[in-house]
Amino acid sequence: MVRFSVLTIFPETLEAAFSASLLGKARERGVVDIETIDIRQYAAGPHLMTDDAPFGGGAGMVMKPEPIVAAIEAVVGARKHRGTYGRKEGAGAGAGAEAGVGAGAEAGVGADAGKRARVILLSPGGKRFTQEMAKELARERHLVFVCGRYEGVDDRVRAHFVDDEVSIGDYVLGGGEAAAWVVVEAVARLVPGVVGNAASIDSESFVEGLLEYPQYTRPRVFRGRAVPDVLVSGDHAAIAKWRREAQIARTKAERADLYARWIAKCGKD
Ligand code: SAM
Repeated sequence: MVRFSVLTIFPETLEAAFSASLLGKARERGVVDIETIDIRQYAAGPHLMTDDAPFGGGAGMVMKPEPIVAAIEAVVGARKHRGTYGRKEGAGAGAGAEAGVGAGAEAGVGADAGKRARVILLSPGGKRFTQEMAKELARERHLVFVCGRYEGVDDRVRAHFVDDEVSIGDYVLGGGEAAAWVVVEAVARLVPGVVGNAASIDSESFVEGLLEYPQYTRPRVFRGRAVPDVLVSGDHAAIAKWRREAQIARTKAERADLYARWIAKCGKD
């Protein structure tokens, strides 16, 4: 069982995503636990403000650190920072950042690290999310995602109160919620029991560093285009060979970067 906690000021944007289809069913079956937590619950003052103007001026608003950190602490308890991706204490933090607080001081990548929550800030400046990372995250017990909005999150949160910073690509979204959906779905489907047929995960794109082979279903001929004969031949060895070759050819044609890495790894061509 993996627990996912998503901290956001717009929990309603994610509730439908986490209730439908694969994730909804996995939640119902108790294979994963996915919760959305409203950061605003942890805001203070009569207006429950979660953002404020940037120090130094400039456009837009910045998410305040107090409600986010209070929400993180409420969900993970007295946590320790783990620094899993080798984050450096104070990296990017301005002068005056409190020494001794955060990843470097409390680094806990030890035997019991997997028992602790791992807190991830969704951010365009983060480490690029990949299938490899999804696999790694699926081994955790509790993942906590922090969704930014506006101009982003006060940098002290990034520098001192999260373990990792993850981006889903080199573009800027309006908020971290869509990124959280992407990451939660990609990770959750690797949790044992979420996808009914585990074999379907093993043959998917990126698993081996290649794209998946082309898939077809009925009708056999659609608008004059027939599926490859071999797939209806009943010859399982021939089908497996065709799929392998198609997988390699497709990767070579469509993702030269993946193909080059695959060749370098296995020394084939
Ligand atoms: N001002 C920020 C910048 O230039 O890097 C962009 C802030 S963006 C409008 C607001 C929030 O959306 C971010 O704090 C982050 O949580 C989320 N976000 C935007 N793009 C993202 C991406 N590519 N991957 C993950 N999260 C993203």
